[in-house]
Amino acid sequence: MSKPSTYLDHSATTATDPRVLEAMLPYFGERYGNPSSLYQAGATVRQALDEARRRIAEVLGARPKEIFFTSCGTESDNMAIRGAVWAQRDARNHIITSQVEHHAVSHTCKQLEEVFGCEVTYLPVDREGLVDPDAVGRAITERTALISIMYANNEVGTVEPINKIAKIARQHQIPFHTDAVQAPGLLPLNVDTLGVDLMAISGHKFYAPKGVGVLYVRTGTKLVPTQTGGGQERGMRAGTENTALIIGLARALELAESARPAEVLRLTALRDDLIQGVLNSIPDAVLTGSTTERLASHTSFLFNGVEGEGVVLKLDMAGIAASSGSACSSGDEGPSPVLAALGYTYPLSRGSLRLSLGRENTPEDVEHVLRELPPIIASLRALSPYYNSDGTVALSAPAW
Ligand code: PLP
Repeated sequence: MSKPSTYLDHSATTATDPRVLEAMLPYFGERYGNPSSLYQAGATVRQALDEARRRIAEVLGARPKEIFFTSCGTESDNMAIRGAVWAQRDARNHIITSQVEHHAVSHTCKQLEEVFGCEVTYLPVDREGLVDPDAVGRAITERTALISIMYANNEVGTVEPINKIAKIARQHQIPFHTDAVQAPGLLPLNVDTLGVDLMAISGHKFYAPKGVGVLYVRTGTKLVPTQTGGGQERGMRAGTENTALIIGLARALELAESARPAEVLRLTALRDDLIQGVLNSIPDAVLTGSTTERLASHTSFLFNGVEGEGVVLKLDMAGIAASSGSACSSGDEGPSPVLAALGYTYPLSRGSLRLSLGRENTPEDVEHVLRELPPIIASLRALSPYYNSDGTVALSAPAW
C-alpha cells in the first residue's frame, strides 16, 4: 500500500493537483524548447514562462521582475539570506533571526556565522512560539544587514507577527526576509501588505510538484547571486529554467489563492474538532504552538511517556500518515530546536506528533484519527517505563 487512507501530513508535502499536472504536461512533451533559444520553439516556451511569472506576481501583489524561480523553498531561503548578506559584506555583517526557523534558514545563518564571520542573533520565542517584534527592534545595531523571521512555523503552526516586524525593519532600512513556505493557500501573501522585501515559497506545499520554488525580491533589494553560470533569471539564478514545474507552480498558486477564503474556514473547523477531540480523549495531551495565531491546517501535540516515531509507525499501520517533529528534513536526530525554544524538555518533546490537514481531508478523517490515536497512545504508555499514570512527566527518564 503506498497511499494512506487518511493523509495528515500536508505540512510535509502535498499531492500534485490534477489541474496542475494538466497545465504542465505539454512542457514535458511538444513544448520542450529551451526558453533561452532564439527560434520559435524556444520563444513559445519563453512566453509561457513570462506569463507564469506575471500570474505569480499578481497573486503576490508584486511586479513580474521581482519574481525569481528556484528549485525549492530551501534554495529560495539560501538565495535570499546569503545573497543579501554578501551584498552588504563591507558595511554590515549582523543577522537577526529566531530560534524557531526551519533549517533552510537557521543552517544558512549558522554557515554565515562560522565560515564568513557574521554575527547572528537568534531571538527567543514565547511558550506559543511567537517572536516579540519589540525584541527585534532591540536587537538591531548599525551593523544589521538582514532580518529573517518565518511567516508560519512548520512544526507548531504558529503564525508570526510579520507585518509588525516588517515595519520595524523598514524604519531602520534593513532588508526583511520571510520564509513563507507554509503560508500559500492558508495566509494572505500580498508582499506590500506584509511589508516584506524577500519572501520564499515552495510549490510542493500547495499542490504543485516538488522541485520548484520562488523567491520574491522587492525592487531595490540588493542580492549577490549565489548560483552563477548562464545568466538566467536576469543573472540572479543561473541554470536552465524548469519550465514545466514553473508553469505548474503558477497554476497551483492561483488555485490555492482563489480557494483560500473558503478553505481556511473549512480547515479551521476540522482543525478545531481534531484538537478538541485529541485533548478530550487522551490524558495529559498537550497542544503545542499558539491557540489563536495558528495555521488553519495545523495541529501539533506532545504525549508524555511515548516516542513520536512509535506513534507515527502505529498510525501508519492504521492507514494514517502523520509526522513527528518537523519531518521535512531527513536524518535529523536529537531534540527539536523548535520545541526546546518553546520551553519543552527533551524527554517530553520526544513525544511530539504533527497532524496537518489539507484539501482532501473530511470530518471522517478526523473521526478516523480520534478512533485510532487514543488506544495507540494508551498502549505505548502501558509499555513505557517513563510514563507516570498520575499524569506527571517522568523527568527521571534518561535524556535518550
Ligand atoms: N521552510 C519551511 C518553513 C518549510 O516547512 C520547509 C519544508 O518543509 C522548507 C523551508 C523547505 O522547503 P523545500 O522542501 O521546498 O526545500
